[in-house]
Amino acid sequence: MNRFRYPLFLVLIATLVVGVGYAQNKKGKKEKSWPKKEFYSGEPIKALIITGGCCHNYLYQTFAMGSGIQKVANVDFEIVNVGGKGTEAKIDLYNNPDWAKPYDVVIHNECFANTADPEYIEKITKAHRDGVPALVIHCAMHSYRAAEVDDWREFLGVTSRRHDHQSNYPVSVVAADHPVMETFPSDWVTPKDELYIIEKVWPNTTVLATSVSEKDKQEHPVIWANQYGQARIVGTTYGHSDATFDDPVFTRMLAKALIWASEKGEQK
Ligand SMILES: [Zn+2]
Repeated sequence: MNRFRYPLFLVLIATLVVGVGYAQNKKGKKEKSWPKKEFYSGEPIKALIITGGCCHNYLYQTFAMGSGIQKVANVDFEIVNVGGKGTEAKIDLYNNPDWAKPYDVVIHNECFANTADPEYIEKITKAHRDGVPALVIHCAMHSYRAAEVDDWREFLGVTSRRHDHQSNYPVSVVAADHPVMETFPSDWVTPKDELYIIEKVWPNTTVLATSVSEKDKQEHPVIWANQYGQARIVGTTYGHSDATFDDPVFTRMLAKALIWASEKGEQK
């Protein structure tokens, strides 16, 4: 059982960065308070990061994402890093029907393209359909790609099965008024990353930003919001390289996405 192979590192950081302060009110009663952060200063959002599988540097990505988000929002992270480095795995976590219940939001940054068991996939999607929000990052879009059922793709809000080469892709914001995009610059160009080819946008999806293929000039969603059952979902197909997770434009957007998806609102 190596569910918590890496969490102490981040949980420690979360504890250190978020901390808990106590302020005296007029009656001398102690009230909890948390550090002031640019985007969200309320009680820490409880986020679970599920990460692992093929093709990416998940330990580094998790560290960079966690610390980047914690710069601007109070979030406590738990990390599940299991499933090895291959393209097929079933992880124990999902066997508990209440696996997502303790969390305000789940971040899927895993990559298991050849896992195709529909009953297994249903264990994941049901938790979200019933109300636990999610962020879905990069290879999550190619996870369960071998499955014949569309449940996972409907949950994501897009269908993708392949990607273009690595390059520096300009990102066009198409929904600047959406809360996730509030502070996103209009001229961001990605660090070296992959452009995922989106073959279908599902009906409950709102596209927030796009990039254009250097091969055929087709435009593809790269950031979006989806309503899946009771839950808000935010997705981005960027997140291949470590440099993308080092870029504050990317992690600030993820922080906004966490706040919006978990409906925590903004508290200055
Ligand atoms: Zn990749």
